[in-house]
Formats: sequence, structure tokens, C-alpha cells
Amino acid sequence: MTKPLLLVSNDDGLSSPGIAALAEALEPLGDVWVVAPDREQSATSHSITLGRPLRLKRHAERRYAVDGTPADAVYVALHHPTLLPTRPSLVVSGINRGLNLGNDVFYSGTVAAAREGALRGVPALAVSLGRGGDRAVAGRIARAVAEKMLADLPALGLKPTPLLNVNVPAGTVKGLKLARLGARLYDDAVEVRRDPRGGEYLWIGGPGGVKHEEEPDTDTFVFDAGWASLTPLALEMTDTARVRSLEGWAPALPAMQGK
Ligand code: MN
Repeated sequence: MTKPLLLVSNDDGLSSPGIAALAEALEPLGDVWVVAPDREQSATSHSITLGRPLRLKRHAERRYAVDGTPADAVYVALHHPTLLPTRPSLVVSGINRGLNLGNDVFYSGTVAAAREGALRGVPALAVSLGRGGDRAVAGRIARAVAEKMLADLPALGLKPTPLLNVNVPAGTVKGLKLARLGARLYDDAVEVRRDPRGGEYLWIGGPGGVKHEEEPDTDTFVFDAGWASLTPLALEMTDTARVRSLEGWAPALPAMQGK
């Protein structure tokens, strides 16, 4: 039996300790290939680079860096004509330095790298770890989930393509709990400052605090209770309830010119 190919990426960059820990943890499951951004790309979400060429650089056997975003890295790995010997069975992204709970998934490059795989039909997993957490613990959790995905998902269904999001707390982990996305409520201030020449500059997403909505079935809640959270994410983003409620509704538009 041929070993499955596991494609590993992240948004913290190829040299981050999290991606090394993830690659090592997944090694028993198959042939691990790492294709990742050449530098930190956190919070770049799902952007791709269309306005300049990309460079792919080999760092070691099965270890490559792309001078682009997390989605670029996975896109390149999946579509490059000669890079990977076979199509991956799984894309695994992480281990991110910091959490991707609740609405973080919209900003996260870690989740986007996994989502790029899922959008291309490859089952995918994103793994994030609370600051100061144990990467070996997160690696063991990633391996357990990845192993389960490889073994069980073909029976559970690959359409739509599964995309799972895991967050591991720092400290003792009680176990893994299924949860839906919660709401993370950030202290969303804009810090206005002056540079030495008198020009104004801004800091957003600063060190302000974050609070979690207290809904018992959410990832934020189970995480706060000491569990690693597991959330399946949907690629279908249509608000179907709203489509129904808007049936027969059409805003009055100004008269339109042209053919
Ligand atoms: Mn990151």
C-alpha cells in the first residue's frame, strides 16, 4: 500500500517552530511535504498574489518556501506541474502561534491555507495553539485528528470537502470537543500616534483584551473550559435562511441604461 501524501503549510512561515512540530507529528501517517510562506503571513486571510511573480525555493528534502501568502503556498503545491509526486490526501495547516477561534477564522491565514486545500477538493485541517502552549501536545492532537480524517472521512463523506478547525489551549488539555464557532469580542480600538516627523500613524488589532460569548456549544466556550475545540467549517457561505426570506424581494433600482 502506498503511503498517503500529507501537505503541510501555515501562516507563520517555513522557519516557525509550529510547522516543524506539525510535520514531525504527522510523519507516521504518510509522506509529509511542507510548502509554506517564506515569512510571517499571519492575518492575511485568503489573499493570493496576482500582481507579481512568485518564487519557490527548496530548503531541504520535501521542504519548500513560497514568497507569498498561505493560500499561495497551498495553491502552488497543488497545481505546480512537478513539485508533489501525487495529489495530497490531506492538507494540514499550523501549528499556529495563537488561536483561531470563532470569528478569527475570517482573518486567519492558518485557516485559509487549509481552506485553499478544501476548495480544491482536498480534505483539510487547521491547527492553532494558545500562546505559550505545548507544541508537542498540539502535534499529538493534530495527528489524532488527521489519522481519523484519513481513515473515516471517505466513509463519512467527502462532498462537500471536509475542513476542520482545531484550537488547543495552553496548559492541561481535557480532551477534544466538537463545537460550533463562537464569537470573540475584541477590544477593537484604533490607536492613533505620531511619528518623529509629526505624521500620524495608526495601530489596529493592538494588544487589547478579548472576551468570549458564553454559549456552551461554541468553540470559545469549550476552549475556555480547558478543552481543545474541533469545528467543521463550511465552504458554502450562502445565508440560505435569508435567501428564503428575500424571495420576491427586489429593491427598486434606478432605470438602467444600455443593452
Ligand atoms: Mn499565524
